[in-house]
Amino acid sequence: MDSIRTYRFRIYPDTKRQKEIDEQIELARLLYNKLLEKAKNEYQKTKDFEVKKATFNRLLKEALAENKDFSRIYSQTRQNIFVRLQRAYQNFFRRVKERKGGKKVRVGFPRFKAKGRYNSVTYPQFGFEIERIRRNCRKVNILHVSKIGSMQVELHRKIRGIIKTLTIKKEAGRYYATFSIINEMETQNVENTFPVGIDMGLETFAALSDGRKIQKPNFARRAEKRLSHWQNVIARRQKGSERRQKAKLRFEREWQHVNNESNDFIQKTTTELVESGYTSFAFEDLRIQDMLKNHRFARSIGNAVWGRFMQVLSYKAEEAGMRVVKVDPRGTSQTCSECGFLNSLNLSERVFACWKCGYHNDRDVNAARNILNRATAGHAGSHARGDLTSTVQQVSQAESLKREHTLEISGGSSRL
Ligand SMILES: [Zn+2]
Repeated sequence: MDSIRTYRFRIYPDTKRQKEIDEQIELARLLYNKLLEKAKNEYQKTKDFEVKKATFNRLLKEALAENKDFSRIYSQTRQNIFVRLQRAYQNFFRRVKERKGGKKVRVGFPRFKAKGRYNSVTYPQFGFEIERIRRNCRKVNILHVSKIGSMQVELHRKIRGIIKTLTIKKEAGRYYATFSIINEMETQNVENTFPVGIDMGLETFAALSDGRKIQKPNFARRAEKRLSHWQNVIARRQKGSERRQKAKLRFEREWQHVNNESNDFIQKTTTELVESGYTSFAFEDLRIQDMLKNHRFARSIGNAVWGRFMQVLSYKAEEAGMRVVKVDPRGTSQTCSECGFLNSLNLSERVFACWKCGYHNDRDVNAARNILNRATAGHAGSHARGDLTSTVQQVSQAESLKREHTLEISGGSSRL
């Protein structure tokens, strides 16, 4: 099984290299627009929308003849512009189709990229290299990139697998390198003896069906404050003003900071989970959940972290040969995980107590057990009951009862 994953690292180009990157990005943007313009003209003549590779190469040749500067773009990067253009066309066609199918989507023809809307260059396969060197008694990693030069890269995670592409991106005045990696591996499926359900907690970050809880990272609350502060500042300042622009940059930096911190948290937690003896994971399918209910920033940080958490957990679990199941999250906090009876429970109630059978447990743990029930029942989204007697389930329920008394239940209901 091959899996593609991406690694993103901050890079530290010096002023000269920064200029080179900016210039490469700008040239790539201009070339993209040029080729789009040519492709549009081509359509006028041929009435054939499809941009074929041969056509593209011809248009590229023309563009290069018209503007010598384009030859300063690395050849592979120029080829990648074709990939981007093709993707823009494919998106367009897909949307046209979706709209014909009755879906309400906005359909726009591929557009020219304004300054700032095109902020990366991609090196497919070749044109870059990472070298580990000793500098001032410290080992550092240097990224060599064709047409740009060399710069330090902070590899905070070990890259495993074969590097397929490198994308250099400028974001909020900072530079990043993203590698996409193909992991060629053979995985053996693990026997599913200890599946676990995970619920996105209210008080805690996550609750597990065996009663375990993952505490909320501290940074989230702090970040929430700082983000809303800068958002207010942006709102106060005059549109188009330099001061507003500055506030925007600060906001983006804060956002990035949260991103980095949450990535560390996610990496640590997911590794720990995959290594703690569970054999499969079930969680809620967030696409089904109504995510638009609450527009508050705090919530969106939580959701963003949670979404990424599940993504990372999924690939780590699958890499280890474990199954990952997403289930319909509707009603998981209201349903009794023991007898399936639907209770009414308001947000402030931290303990789930069933009216019918008397089962009680922490609210989020009960939800996690429902998630597990739905996953082990085999149909995602069905209202599977807790009385299904698969051995797997009994194991985890026994485990859950064992840990139940160690639960710490606290009040309140604020979300991450
Ligand atoms: Zn019950």
